[in-house]
Amino acid sequence: MRDREVGMYCCGPTVYDYAHIGNLRTYIFEDVLRRALTCAGFKVKHVMNITDVGHLTSDADTGEDKIEIGAKREHKSAWEVAEFYTKNFFSDTEKLNIIRPEITPKATGTIPEQVELIKKIEKNGFTYRTEDGIYFDTSKLKDYGKLARLKKENLKAGARIEIVEGKKNPTDFALWKFSPHDQKRQMEWDSPWGIGFPGWHIECSAMSMKYLGETFDIHCGGIDHIPVHHTNEIAQSEAATGKEPVKYWVHGEFLVIGKEKMAKRAGSFTTLQSLIDEGIEPLAYRFFCLTAHYRSQLTFDINAVKSAQLGLLRMTDFMERLDEVKESVTKKDISKVMGKARDDFRKFIEDDLNTPKALAAISDFMREINAVMDRNALGREDARKMRDTMLDFDRVLGLRLGETGKENAPGEVQKLVSDRDKLRKEKKFKESDLIRNKIKELGWEVLDTPKGPKVKKI
Ligand code: AMP
Ligand code: ZN
Repeated sequence: MRDREVGMYCCGPTVYDYAHIGNLRTYIFEDVLRRALTCAGFKVKHVMNITDVGHLTSDADTGEDKIEIGAKREHKSAWEVAEFYTKNFFSDTEKLNIIRPEITPKATGTIPEQVELIKKIEKNGFTYRTEDGIYFDTSKLKDYGKLARLKKENLKAGARIEIVEGKKNPTDFALWKFSPHDQKRQMEWDSPWGIGFPGWHIECSAMSMKYLGETFDIHCGGIDHIPVHHTNEIAQSEAATGKEPVKYWVHGEFLVIGKEKMAKRAGSFTTLQSLIDEGIEPLAYRFFCLTAHYRSQLTFDINAVKSAQLGLLRMTDFMERLDEVKESVTKKDISKVMGKARDDFRKFIEDDLNTPKALAAISDFMREINAVMDRNALGREDARKMRDTMLDFDRVLGLRLGETGKENAPGEVQKLVSDRDKLRKEKKFKESDLIRNKIKELGWEVLDTPKGPKVKKI
């Protein structure tokens, strides 16, 4: 940390398919962390890579490249597939109000840096060559696996990692893979070792070093990355520089369905779009994620997400209500309520991002202020202060609370909203969906609430 500057690196998406809402949970938690640091006065330099090559279907460096699988499936080039899903990913994160990291390099855009890093690791004596690539020899590092507290004696070949021909130790991993002799890959590059492509882990070491230096402050990702990907990132970076690359590792727990981890591999996964199709607003999904601590598993349940939508609505209703206050004076001392809410919120966020407790503190605050408003005892000036307090909370939560309130939809939009509502009551959902799209084209979004439809500017 230099002069209150924080370097933060987050593993980005592998862009061979749509992101699922489990992936998005991780990016939401990272965004909350970044926002909390910013609010605490740090200047955050946030880097997130795009994995557009080299992530094989198996952690043991076997199987096919996921991007090339996507290309076959969709009859597109690997480059087109990567571009399509990268765009889609950023469109999802935008809908979830995730602040775009300042630097979002692609693996394919940093091949020379990856090759240079492998050359350093080779020069320091940590590599060997097999039939299919250049491998990292994990037995050369005394404390390999320290992040995951892996015990070498427990890692007998084949016990939990596939055996790969030519590998000296089961935990060894590819730095550079050779293209197959009999086929031309769509994504391949020349290198000092032969034509091929980088192993999955090297990109993150190369990119974090390039943008944040050999040692930086925070590295995030989902917990699945601890035993292999991040363990290998540490090994590579230490072998190259002799320094610990990361001061703080911060990992988010999984979103699960039943007892299963949500995964793309399973074939059926829930995307943000599928939630939107169910009438869930993206920010309601963000709210749902905030109801759990990032280090706890969160079970996906559509009804729980719908309750989160109501939770969000309570907040936006509160903002609107504050906006509509007309009384000139406040007839109750509310400074303590506001002070306590601010103190509690800050205390909970600073306590390892305890968002569920922070939301509970806001809920108490809203209940007390609503009670004051019920008695017409809140004045305009104080209502504005309450609104500012909520907006300060929202700098961390990112629920776009500032975009609700006075803004009224134009007549044309209001007419479409009531036409759509009529069609829905007649159960003509196809027609009503067409109108929803028209409303969207005009830049507004309809939210179906127990109090009837509401519109919000997109
Ligand atoms: P991927 O696109 O597979 O490389 O994953 C992108 C991010 O999502 C990584 O940080 C993963 O650790 C994370 N991730 C994968 N599955 C889940 C899940 N079910 N819940 C939360 N995060 C996940
Ligand atoms: Zn990574």
